[in-house]
Amino acid sequence: MINHEVVAAAVRKPPAITGTGSHTIRELIAKHNRRRMAATGGESFIPDDAETLRCLNKEGLNYESVLEKGRTVVVRKTANLHTGGTIHDVTDEISPALKQAAVTVSQALDILNIPYNVTRRGAIRATLSGDGDALDRAVCVHLDTLGAMVSRLKSNGRLAVRPIGTWSSRFAEGARVTVFTQGQKYRGRIIPLKASGHVYGDAVDTQPVSWDQVEVRVDARCHNKADLEDKGFCAGDFIAVDPFPEIDEQEGFINARHLDDKAGAAVLLSVARTIRRSGLKLPVDCHLLFTINEEVGVGATEVLYNDITEMIVIDSAMTAPGQNSTEYDATLVMMDQSGPFDYHLNRKLVRLCRENEIFFKKDLFEFYRSDAASAIEAGSDIRTALVGFGVDASHGYERTNISSLKQVENLILAYVRSNPTFNRDKDKMGSITGFPHQPTRDPINIET
Ligand SMILES: [Zn+2]
Repeated sequence: MINHEVVAAAVRKPPAITGTGSHTIRELIAKHNRRRMAATGGESFIPDDAETLRCLNKEGLNYESVLEKGRTVVVRKTANLHTGGTIHDVTDEISPALKQAAVTVSQALDILNIPYNVTRRGAIRATLSGDGDALDRAVCVHLDTLGAMVSRLKSNGRLAVRPIGTWSSRFAEGARVTVFTQGQKYRGRIIPLKASGHVYGDAVDTQPVSWDQVEVRVDARCHNKADLEDKGFCAGDFIAVDPFPEIDEQEGFINARHLDDKAGAAVLLSVARTIRRSGLKLPVDCHLLFTINEEVGVGATEVLYNDITEMIVIDSAMTAPGQNSTEYDATLVMMDQSGPFDYHLNRKLVRLCRENEIFFKKDLFEFYRSDAASAIEAGSDIRTALVGFGVDASHGYERTNISSLKQVENLILAYVRSNPTFNRDKDKMGSITGFPHQPTRDPINIET
């Protein structure tokens, strides 16, 4: 893992209301629902049904009871978002041992009782088994994220750095970091060379933007190169960037670095949990792939089984002027810098969106590649498509909304439950029979 931090661990809590001493439970639930419906685009509310009444009765209450001030009552036992559950950030409660992304994911898979294998380097492939034995499919996310590496110890006692993955130093300025030396961890901050207006005046506004223009100021008494050497700093030390997650429950916004692609991993685990807990039948085996080298361009190569015929990648979809993606919808990425995605698979995803009332946009990205491109380039003859959750301001000031993650989750759920796209795909090579058609135009007759 390049960055050892978990972006934000989200757990669902069953919905609860707290008394005011003057409102009835019916009024409190209505108020809760108004707030949650606004935050989740109308997805999360406490229904007025037998289960809610049962929970209230257990507490000796009913809809007309006036709840005492400060008393909190859980009104549903389940923590399903659709029945009013809320999502809480529990990052601070996770033990440090769980913070390594691959470990975190494998723990989640253990809890869900989903079998998986881990490659030598830490990519994970898990399997949700289905009824059919051919035509396996995969859904892929990446666990790695952007970071940096110490390139040189400087005579001023600071560290020169180089990026890991593609990102601008402009978005690194100000980031809190951890530097991993051979024996120890040090905290620090990435700052511009001219970081003080009191000293440099207007020159701070004209300093160019590049990785040569920033340095890491470590929180250790280092005033020269020898001090750095004494503390064990060295070229090649990894630098992890703090994500600073912040989840706004009211509006549904999630601010954090590295949402790309930690949010995708969270969506995939959530899909897995829904399938496991509901006992939904899958038509064919679905492999959940968690890769570890996407940001440096390697991606989903070593974790692809031979029998995988198609793969959906979940990754970020950038919102910006001129783009169609939003922080509230799922995005079907039609093309990225590696070329168009599979025509038929994308058409199928559009159909699934329409059938399941999933809000989606189509978009194209010019400076973007994903696990799908790596898989194809590595020689996999599979259909691929890319489903995105909206991310504003990648990489550095990333923000998404729970609504977008929800749309992606619903689409992936519909996809893994759908029938195989083409039966003919079960054979690597075959005759032209069953080969899917794309639309053709009518012959053009030119009069001469
Ligand atoms: Zn990504």
